[in-house]
Amino acid sequence: MPGPILDHSETDQTLPEKADVVIIGGGIIGVSTALFLAESGVDVVLCEKGVLGGEQSSRNWGWVRVMGRDRREIPLAIEALKIWDGLDARVGGETGFRRSGILYISETETDIANRDAWLKLAKAHGLDTRQIGTDETAALMPGAVQRYKGALYTPSDARAEPQKAVPAISAGARRAGARILTGCAVRGIEKSAGRISAVITEKGRIETSAVVLAGGAWSRLFCKGLDIRLPQLKVRNSVLRTSPVSGGPDGAGATATFAYRKRLDGGYTIANGGINMHALVPDSFAFFRDFQPARKAEGDAVQLGLSAQSWNELFEIPAVSLERPGAFEKHRILDPKPDAKSTLKALAAAAEAMPLLRNAKVEQIWAGLIDVTPDAVPVISTLEAVPGLTIATGFSGHGFGIGPAAGHLAADLVMGATPIVDPGPFRFSRFSDGTPIEIAPPV
Ligand SMILES: Cc1cc2nc3c(=O)[nH]c(=O)nc-3n(C[C@H](O)[C@H](O)[C@H](O)COP(=O)(O)OP(=O)(O)OC[C@H]3O[C@@H](n4cnc5c(N)ncnc54)[C@H](O)[C@@H]3O)c2cc1C
Repeated sequence: MPGPILDHSETDQTLPEKADVVIIGGGIIGVSTALFLAESGVDVVLCEKGVLGGEQSSRNWGWVRVMGRDRREIPLAIEALKIWDGLDARVGGETGFRRSGILYISETETDIANRDAWLKLAKAHGLDTRQIGTDETAALMPGAVQRYKGALYTPSDARAEPQKAVPAISAGARRAGARILTGCAVRGIEKSAGRISAVITEKGRIETSAVVLAGGAWSRLFCKGLDIRLPQLKVRNSVLRTSPVSGGPDGAGATATFAYRKRLDGGYTIANGGINMHALVPDSFAFFRDFQPARKAEGDAVQLGLSAQSWNELFEIPAVSLERPGAFEKHRILDPKPDAKSTLKALAAAAEAMPLLRNAKVEQIWAGLIDVTPDAVPVISTLEAVPGLTIATGFSGHGFGIGPAAGHLAADLVMGATPIVDPGPFRFSRFSDGTPIEIAPPV
């Protein structure tokens, strides 16, 4: 399998003829939704075109944080941390969750001022986030020789293992009764009298009246096939993991030039926090106006260019016929080429700050394609236009940490249960009802 090596997942082999709910996509959002639906006694089937967790959910940094989030995501992120606390026991497996704290390391007065502004949100939500000075930052970064101005620090923030979490949650969902199929692309949805009547997969038809689309970077294309305009683009972020290193920081942190996170295997996941690459594709032009506010706010943080993805997407269309294989079967696992140069540069910067990383061996480098919405906040929403369809997508580079709560919310919406948080900020209609695009200030 390309990309990081995931824990093994048991899956189901037989396509059921019918189900109460079908989930499209086996990333952290899909398997978490399956877990909560199955625990509530709902007959749920999850279809994944490739392998469980094969795309973003195994390729991410593994940060589980409330700190720095958009104000609209904070309540969901707080609920997520509560779920993560009991998740290993709940699913009977190891997700690698540890409350080891996160540091946003401040190098300039502007960093400190931006973080002071976010601190007000933290206080309003009763979080333990605080600004710390040079000495406390140094104490939380054992082995660092670099002295920093300080950091925004949240001791209760956490880390988890992207290569373990999805297999563990999926196993828990299966134990609770969910059926999970891999190598099972969903080509489209069949409707009768305006309502969902079935999903058509490459392995056959499943009769259902409810679908959750948790397709990550593919949700836009899937929606296009349903004549739904989901403004979503993709950016590439690259990551490396090192061999085990002893004596370094236990949690996660980031400066302007590198981000690190201690791994359960003793190594570090290292990335260049500041660089994301957006390949020019037809959607870049189709959604030009939607993403204009984000483009202005991001400045140099997103670099534009041409890549293999530009070429692939030029010819990518939703299924012409549900009888024949389409894009979802052609690309089983999105495995973009990593930007090795900038990732190794991040490691060099990290090793300069923390010389104990100098002896670390680079075990693997990979990249992931992140699905982003115009306001970098996900869509977790039912759709008036397609009764029975719930969308949970567009996590914009920070869906791993809130994944379990997002899955809970999606399950609540499907079941008509009291939602875990107010779903209003995540409604799909905000992109078409004249609501101004709100971009969170930098933290
Ligand atoms: C490099 C990188 C670093 C990141 N760092 C962090 C971090 O530190 N913390 C954090 O919170 N978030 C982080 N993120 C973001 C996080 O990984 C994602 O937001 C999250 O994993 C999204 O989960 P998902 O289930 O929506 O999507 P995915 O994990 O991408 O899963 C979607 C799945 O749907 C499947 N699928 C799509 N279409 C179909 C179809 N038609 N039929 C069947 N299956 C289909 C795909 O094959 C895929 O497996 C990072 C992401 C990347 C790439």
